[in-house]
Amino acid sequence: MLPLDSTTPAFGRAALLCYSTSVMAPGGIALIFDMDNTVLGSRIDFTAIRRELVSVLRAARATAEAPDALMGRAIAELVALGAAHDRAHRTQLVPELWRIIEAHEAAGLQDASALDGAPAVLRALRDRGYRIAILTNNGREPALAALRAAGLDGCAETIVARDDVAALKPAGDGVREALRRLGGVARAYVIGDSWIDGAAAAEAGAVFIAYRRSAEELRRRGIEPWRVIMHLGELLSLPLARGPTS
Ligand SMILES: [Mg+2]
Repeated sequence: MLPLDSTTPAFGRAALLCYSTSVMAPGGIALIFDMDNTVLGSRIDFTAIRRELVSVLRAARATAEAPDALMGRAIAELVALGAAHDRAHRTQLVPELWRIIEAHEAAGLQDASALDGAPAVLRALRDRGYRIAILTNNGREPALAALRAAGLDGCAETIVARDDVAALKPAGDGVREALRRLGGVARAYVIGDSWIDGAAAAEAGAVFIAYRRSAEELRRRGIEPWRVIMHLGELLSLPLARGPTS
């Protein structure tokens, strides 16, 4: 759960309140959307990224972990392995790892379009008073350009990108940063297609809504979604105001 430190006062309260059964006004509720394959149908080949990162790490003998186990790790965790090796051996793996990631991101974001009429869904949620954020592990400039091209600019009050956080998803930093920026939030939902979105939500005391990902698959990662949706429009009929016990 969220540490109640002095840098996150608003969500310090939220972490205590998010499992409340009380009906809450939309103005106190944040909806934090993942970007890739949640609001944006990007074609970033995350498996290829992991394969190439694992290849670099193993070539440098940065890890003794088996390739299969490494392929199951989050990209941020693989970069952390490279960073640890760089610190211990004064190598320069991390710039090479980021070069791989950014090349795949740039290719995968080209001509990406919004999923499920996401601009209309997000605007409808905003019109109801919900507080909307987008949280992505992508770099800020490519993410903003892709969102703009897909008609998603202006759909969120704030966009938290890789450049804005110390630790990427599955860490909860980005969720906390989104809530800090939104301010005045008493309950938060994270909507995303990956286990890393669920892990980030759990770490920050938010409720996870899985998008097009089975609960069974997520449970194998220790993630328990509150709901699984197959279309973003389902958000308009979920009991968000009533909360996670409903
Ligand atoms: Mg995603």
